[in-house]
Amino acid sequence: DLCLQKAIQSIELNAFTTITDDEAESHAIESEKRLYVDRKPKTLDGITIGIKDNFCTSNIPTTCGSEMLKNFVPTYNATVYARLRKAGACLVGKCNLDEFAMGSGTVDSIFGPTRNPWQYERNNWKIAGGSSGGSAVAVTTGSCVAAIGSDTGGSTRNPAALCGVVGLKPSYGLVSRYGLIPLVNSMDVPGILTRDIDDCVAVLNSVAGPDDLDSTTIKRDYKPIEIQDIDMSSVKIGIPKEYHCEGMDREVINTWSYVSDILEKENCIVKQVSLPYSSVSIVVYSILNQCEVASNMARYDGIEYGLRTDETYSTEELYASTRLQGFSEVVRSRILTGNYFLLTRNYNKYFIKALKLRRLISDDFNKVFNGENKVDLLLTPTTLSDAPSYEDFSLKNNRDQCAFQDFCTQPANMAGIPAVSIPIRLSKNGLPLSLQLMGPMFSEELMLNVAKKIE
Ligand code: GLN
Repeated sequence: DLCLQKAIQSIELNAFTTITDDEAESHAIESEKRLYVDRKPKTLDGITIGIKDNFCTSNIPTTCGSEMLKNFVPTYNATVYARLRKAGACLVGKCNLDEFAMGSGTVDSIFGPTRNPWQYERNNWKIAGGSSGGSAVAVTTGSCVAAIGSDTGGSTRNPAALCGVVGLKPSYGLVSRYGLIPLVNSMDVPGILTRDIDDCVAVLNSVAGPDDLDSTTIKRDYKPIEIQDIDMSSVKIGIPKEYHCEGMDREVINTWSYVSDILEKENCIVKQVSLPYSSVSIVVYSILNQCEVASNMARYDGIEYGLRTDETYSTEELYASTRLQGFSEVVRSRILTGNYFLLTRNYNKYFIKALKLRRLISDDFNKVFNGENKVDLLLTPTTLSDAPSYEDFSLKNNRDQCAFQDFCTQPANMAGIPAVSIPIRLSKNGLPLSLQLMGPMFSEELMLNVAKKIE
């Protein structure tokens, strides 16, 4: 049957790290009971969801795609999952990712790469994007209605764009990070992947809002977002000229102009704006990312939880061998580089300077959203090309690829602002091309209403 076909397809594409069918079944029975016996359906009651495997799920393995946490089974639920469960959603599986969400391809997981369903052939396939590639593929194939990803520099929007689904990065603080295993605490947010904007809004409305378990969530009550027929003539859209960057495919640029023209025809005011510090975003991101990674990964020492090798000669040897076996080279190199930036002699030169530049990047957004000639939203591409083939992607060094792929997405994480990737049309290769809308902090309602007009 269709369900089985979808499940087989996502297994072939390697979308999941763990399939939780008993979990889904018992949940489905509960939801049926609510629907037919109690007659109390809730919006997400009975819908299927996938959760990226860096969110803790009680009694269900949470591996981060890493040897280090291969056998880790948390005793508690991440807030996003707890809220979705409460709304009646059924978990079908944990979704594959790059190890500890470091990457833009979902090619670096101990479970192997996730494959893009578009133009898929067994020996010739495109990457799904990353690091939430499993979540994007699970939604694209219809294995679940919605999936949760995480987004530190683009990890929800990038795979959503390459797989042709909607990917939302909410404002920092709108959705609780409790139970999300951190990559860069000051930039991480849970992301939402769905087939359309309406589904995205339904999921956001059930997971957003204050959480006592995450002190960085906003304190005021969350007002559910409504999709309405808004008057587009009152909306001002900015096109940041710096996003027109080197290496961007012609087809991506054409799609960008195509949508700008449509918005103008809808009577929106569309104008060019400037975010001058965009060009330094990649280096700044890379320094801050590696510094926070160096600090975050210190907890995996082979003593408290996760992998422990049987090296018993000394504590130091135990740490070293556990971390050597537990982490891939990508993770180890970020830890090393981060620690280098954090050395007393380098701290001011790299870390503090990067923090200052982060402020300038973020101020650029403040100026375009609040200054003179302000705009309400920004329209940019999400990625610089359609999905690359696995061969092309893995030929290039991982770090270059991350930087290249995340050019348009990571400035939003620097500033904490919301952004959504919307599939637009197919490229000549028959692959999805997507654009991104960004807005000021907590402007999800307007941003998603305009996204709805574009989709
Ligand atoms: N590609 C970026 C990185 O590897 C972003 C990852 C993410 O958003 N989780 O750091």
